[in-house]
Amino acid sequence: MKNIQAVFIDRDGTIGGTGHFVHPSDFTLFEGAQNSINKIKQVGLKVFAFTNQHRISRNEATLEEFRLQFEEYGFDDSFICPHSDHDNCHCKKPEPGMLLEAAKKYGLDLSRCVVIGDVGDTDMIAAHTVGAIKILVKTGWGVPSLLEYRDKWKTIEPDFIAEDINEAVRWILE
Ligand SMILES: [Mg+2]
Ligand SMILES: [Zn+2]
Repeated sequence: MKNIQAVFIDRDGTIGGTGHFVHPSDFTLFEGAQNSINKIKQVGLKVFAFTNQHRISRNEATLEEFRLQFEEYGFDDSFICPHSDHDNCHCKKPEPGMLLEAAKKYGLDLSRCVVIGDVGDTDMIAAHTVGAIKILVKTGWGVPSLLEYRDKWKTIEPDFIAEDINEAVRWILE
């Protein structure tokens, strides 16, 4: 197994849903995703959710609803950006604020953390900025990120491209 401390996982398009906003009460996980989350924990790694949810700023869902959902899935903690573009916050991916906050809270070396996400120009850029290990999944926006949107993050190479969250986790644990 690789010398990893923690795994950060995006929500929409990575563990389930559609890649677009889905209210927590309507959200469903991809096949095997729950088992993959469990496997990360079973080997003693921390597993964190990190997600942009700007619809919170439009009162279409609450921070608490997301927190509860991530707790139910067994995440050790969740880092959620509730802001819109207009807020100019430091947490909305591709900004690395959520990763930096987690590193401070849990004393992590981000170069020994993995980020799994489906969007090149948010998830992969945020991970790259802090020197984390990057896995792009082909679910959600993964394939479009590798094709028509590749120019938006062309200077960055994922460490691994996985078919889905399950293959990503197998790669981490092998
Ligand atoms: Mg996503
Ligand atoms: Zn934010």
